Amino acid sequence: MALIVQKYGGTSVGNTERIRAVARRVARHREQGDQIVVVVSAMSGVTDGLIKLAKEITPLPSEREMDMLLATGEQQTIALTAVALHALGVDAVSLTGAQAGIVTDGVHTKAKIQNISPDEVHRLLDGGNVVIVAGFQGRTAEGQITTLGRGGSDLTAIALAAALKADLCQIYTDVDGIYTTDPRIVPGARKLPEIAYDELLELAGAGAKVMQLRSVEFAKKFNVIFEVRSSLNEAPGTIVKEETTSMEDVVVRGVSLDKNQAKITLFGVPDQPGRAARIFRALADGAINVDMIVQNASHEGGQRSTDLSFTVDKPDLLKASRVIEELKAEIGFKEAVSDEGIGKLSIVGVGMRSHSGVAARMFDVLAHEGVNIGMISTSEIKISVVIDLAKGEHALRTLHRAFLE
Ligand code: ADP
Ligand code: ASP
Ligand code: MG
Repeated sequence: MALIVQKYGGTSVGNTERIRAVARRVARHREQGDQIVVVVSAMSGVTDGLIKLAKEITPLPSEREMDMLLATGEQQTIALTAVALHALGVDAVSLTGAQAGIVTDGVHTKAKIQNISPDEVHRLLDGGNVVIVAGFQGRTAEGQITTLGRGGSDLTAIALAAALKADLCQIYTDVDGIYTTDPRIVPGARKLPEIAYDELLELAGAGAKVMQLRSVEFAKKFNVIFEVRSSLNEAPGTIVKEETTSMEDVVVRGVSLDKNQAKITLFGVPDQPGRAARIFRALADGAINVDMIVQNASHEGGQRSTDLSFTVDKPDLLKASRVIEELKAEIGFKEAVSDEGIGKLSIVGVGMRSHSGVAARMFDVLAHEGVNIGMISTSEIKISVVIDLAKGEHALRTLHRAFLE
């Protein structure tokens, strides 16, 4: 008897017919005698709809109340999934994240899982139930409801698989695996039979929203091997696991475009020790993730100053801009300008460690298409550039053709 964690994303539970299809799939596994924990997302569009409602009232709603609101999305689907299983004669019990023992820190809307007490889940499984857990949510030690960041149901599934020592973790979604790039943007994208944690980490960090970034970090840390596959068909999916030596033969595993970043540039920052530290400390204290940073030194009338640019997630832009405005007098910069019209284009592959010239080739391909590069950042296995958003999809297709077709 195996213990399987299955996660179904928003589209896979997008209406009652799909929920019944999920229930039928779960029931088939159950018939084979396996113990099943099902993690579900909110129905597609529900989380976005709830955010929109709150923002109709105020642009920066309280983050505690946002968690209270957003957690209701997943609570609908756990109950509906349980009802669908009951209709098939399968014993099933739904649990909120808190009831499933998922304890997080208190950073509302982006909470980190601190520990999971799986006793209740085990007790219900041992009682012959399918256990359905609300994705994306937990509670603090003090009992406050929290959510785990957008796409956080992936994290719930991976973390539960680790805590329950599951034999198998399956992420069911609306594509049948992880592709060389988003198949919805690039028709020539190919499904990958396998991918290393580090590669998927870089792709997820670069905007490939097929898996939440944090969930992949967690899987790597606890060595949770998982499969990404379709809830709509039986095609074999993509296995995500530790890197193997044969994976280095492929130079570029995937490319991606992140349209969800915005750039803030501070002009005329006095070039003195401690200024950057002060700026990024204030952003970190606001739980704002900064991705790329570029600084250019300049001289103006004998005064050394710098222009400092960095990128943040688009939903954090307003908050970040406020934090920066509050620092203006203290730091003494001239002006802060934000730009939402950027895209981050990345190529990723563990093979880059042992192959040279990849960056030169990438920049050549972009130059040939007349795409200007605004910022560059690299890791051992990734090269990212910031470009004009309007050219993003065209540039993505061009890079895919150059490296992967
Ligand atoms: P779910 O609701 O199941 O969590 P998501 O929408 O979060 O699903 O993730 C699946 C989507 O990820 C796909 O529909 C696809 O458009 C997108 N995607 C982006 N990059 C990739 C990629 N490299 N491979 C597969 N899907 C990708
Ligand atoms: N419902 C949440 C979201 O839309 C979590 C998830 O779907 O994984 O971000
Ligand atoms: Mg998702």
